[in-house]
Amino acid sequence: MNRWHLSPGGPRSPSSSSFHDSRPALFSTSELREHGGPHRIVIVGGGAGGLELAVHLGEQLRKLRRREAPAEVVLIDAALTHVWKPWLHELAAGTLGGHDAGVEFLQQARRHNFRFHLGTLESLDRARHELWLAPLVDDEGTEIAPRRPVAYDTLVIAVGSIVNDFHTPGVAEHAIALNSAADATRFHRLLLAACARAEVRSGGPVQIAIVGGGATGVELAAELIESVHAIAGLGTELRQEPQPVQLRLIESGDRLVSALSEDISRQAREDLEARGVEVLLGRRVTEVAANHVVLDGHEVLPAELTVWAAGIRGPEVLEKLDGLELNRSRQLLVRDTLQSTLDADVFAMGDCASCVPEAGAPAVPPRAQAAQQEARYLADALLRRLESRPVEGFRFHDRGSLVSLGSRDAVGRILGRMPGHGVRLQGLLARWAYWSAHHAHMVRLQGALRTAWDQVGNWIDGRTQARVKLH
Ligand SMILES: Cc1cc2nc3c(=O)[nH]c(=O)nc-3n(C[C@H](O)[C@H](O)[C@H](O)COP(=O)(O)OP(=O)(O)OC[C@H]3O[C@@H](n4cnc5c(N)ncnc54)[C@H](O)[C@@H]3O)c2cc1C
Repeated sequence: MNRWHLSPGGPRSPSSSSFHDSRPALFSTSELREHGGPHRIVIVGGGAGGLELAVHLGEQLRKLRRREAPAEVVLIDAALTHVWKPWLHELAAGTLGGHDAGVEFLQQARRHNFRFHLGTLESLDRARHELWLAPLVDDEGTEIAPRRPVAYDTLVIAVGSIVNDFHTPGVAEHAIALNSAADATRFHRLLLAACARAEVRSGGPVQIAIVGGGATGVELAAELIESVHAIAGLGTELRQEPQPVQLRLIESGDRLVSALSEDISRQAREDLEARGVEVLLGRRVTEVAANHVVLDGHEVLPAELTVWAAGIRGPEVLEKLDGLELNRSRQLLVRDTLQSTLDADVFAMGDCASCVPEAGAPAVPPRAQAAQQEARYLADALLRRLESRPVEGFRFHDRGSLVSLGSRDAVGRILGRMPGHGVRLQGLLARWAYWSAHHAHMVRLQGALRTAWDQVGNWIDGRTQARVKLH
């Protein structure tokens, strides 16, 4: 177990002006530079882990407000909206309910007692306790804000992961990776265009290749089959096709979702094949081109759309963090306290961090539930640290995994608190359990009532609008 020490700067003396009351503009360069207030905890990345951390910390600090809050929380994200990444495949397929599409960071900040700044982490100066944000530009390329520093006392990096292309030729140019909501939205537009092309050429299905048979690839395959059938049902030519979509799921290993047990892999494969997905196991994609993929260096398979979902690694910015240690997957190496190995004031969590809690134990997996557990752990630990109280190391508790297989199906296992005990779930019940993980996340962010209203909104939309988003 590691014990923490306060940073040399320690918590700053609380300023007389309350940060709860004075709301900053979206970003304010001078305000960010001049930092003389309370201990500033800066979180970079408002994903499954980072936003929950900001919310937990903000709420705990609100409770301490009467006794003068010992710290302030600043969340920085490259986007204005938080998106639940496990649902990017639904955003890509156009089947995500409009009320689930995102949560505004500024609104969260106002509700939960933290500040939000729009910006993209570019580099770090650890000696000066400053991070640097890239220039902020609008859609036209006009600069809104210059490259600028942000001072911190404690920094938490939570920037997630990107897809690993393993340097495969053509992936960057021709394949789509679901790294962000923008990628998923772009894929959706390309999917609609591919369906329109298939209508116009009147003959032949939409051809899609998904590379990588992990949870992302499997969930996307199931969602796309439903989506293209729904789109085809609205057209004239595609509707005549016996199969409006030819979807190939290509995996280099010998089974799908290999992180889960063999019976779940088998079930996922049978389910996808029953829906018409061609599952290719033990095959490696060696090149991607505009309209095909190459298998094992020689076999060419047509593909108008290729999605690359074969593993993850840390984003490039992690190489610019003033020499912090990385593993081979470019994740930041952290101790069991989630402190980076070289700097006690810099923490990392979620997909961008590699934490091995105990010698010989497996690394904490890059999953939403791990990022959320780390968020809860850090919310408590960072405040303890401010009060110089001892902190236990982080322990990951695997609560099981579920893989969505379309709107009415899922498969997986829920694990109890006793090691080795679990319940296998399948079908509608599993789908409900899968959905409830997101539901619980939303309740934590916006409360039960607002979340319930959003569900009512989705239900009404489902009765008044097309099942698939057509724009
Ligand atoms: C299609 C799909 C399905 C998945 N299904 C599941 C599932 O069923 N169960 C499960 O447990 N996990 C699932 N995952 C994995 C899960 O989404 C991730 O493990 C989880 O989102 C990681 O959380 P995070 O907080 O580390 O990062 P993220 O949720 O990825 O958030 C990262 C945040 O950082 C921001 N950011 C990135 N770079 C910068 C920068 N330079 N500057 C500022 N901000 C930045 C991003 O805008 C984003 O808001 C799935 C992933 C995908 C893609």
